Amino acid sequence: MGSWVRHIAAPLVDLAFPRMCVACNGGLADDNPDRLCGPCQAVIKRIDGNRCPKCGEQLGPHSRTDQRCMICRNVPLVFSKASAACRYEGSARQLILNLKYKRQMAALPLLSELMIGDLERADFLDRVDVIVPVPLHWRRRLWRGFNQSELLARRLGKRFSIPVCANRLRRIRPTASQTRLRRAERFENLKGAFRVEGKNGLAGKTVLLCDDVMTTGATASECSRALREAGVKATYVALVAR
Ligand SMILES: [Zn+2]
Ligand SMILES: [Zn+2]
Repeated sequence: MGSWVRHIAAPLVDLAFPRMCVACNGGLADDNPDRLCGPCQAVIKRIDGNRCPKCGEQLGPHSRTDQRCMICRNVPLVFSKASAACRYEGSARQLILNLKYKRQMAALPLLSELMIGDLERADFLDRVDVIVPVPLHWRRRLWRGFNQSELLARRLGKRFSIPVCANRLRRIRPTASQTRLRRAERFENLKGAFRVEGKNGLAGKTVLLCDDVMTTGATASECSRALREAGVKATYVALVAR
């Protein structure tokens, strides 16, 4: 693009997308290159330091990292390991809600950058052959117009040059909302909800499952079960938040 086009295009872009924080809708300083205001950036709680070797939960500085945390210790999780960029609270939570329920697409690059920063430090990324987004049931996808996990997966795939397979793992039955269910009920609710369909090129591959949020791990675990039944060698899980 020629420089004169950029000079004309930039104000147009600002008109179409007023300079507002994508999380809180507050005004942004003109010199702020991000779409997130200072206070919203400051309250993102990144998960780093000691983590649970299975579910990625943040652990205290003196916790053991050679055994699973109290939260997931007694839960049968089928995936090898999960990694989340930050805690599901504050502006990170707001960004995810704005993307999913207000269709604020400007949240997408912010969320994917959080994931990318996290995955760059993960010890499993070089083993990954293909990225698979956690699917929505087709009815919910139709209603929302997009699957946020797929949009995130495509950005990860592009950044890390890993292929994305978004049309093989299917959610074959709609599931009741998980939010009011206890942990055991969440696993029960999802039994048999996912299936790998069609002749798939996933057999023998190591898959990185991509989702926005993980709570108990039930969804990621059931997806992993379906993938493993289709011959997938191992699954890892990448999340924005937990
Ligand atoms: Zn803000
Ligand atoms: Zn854990």
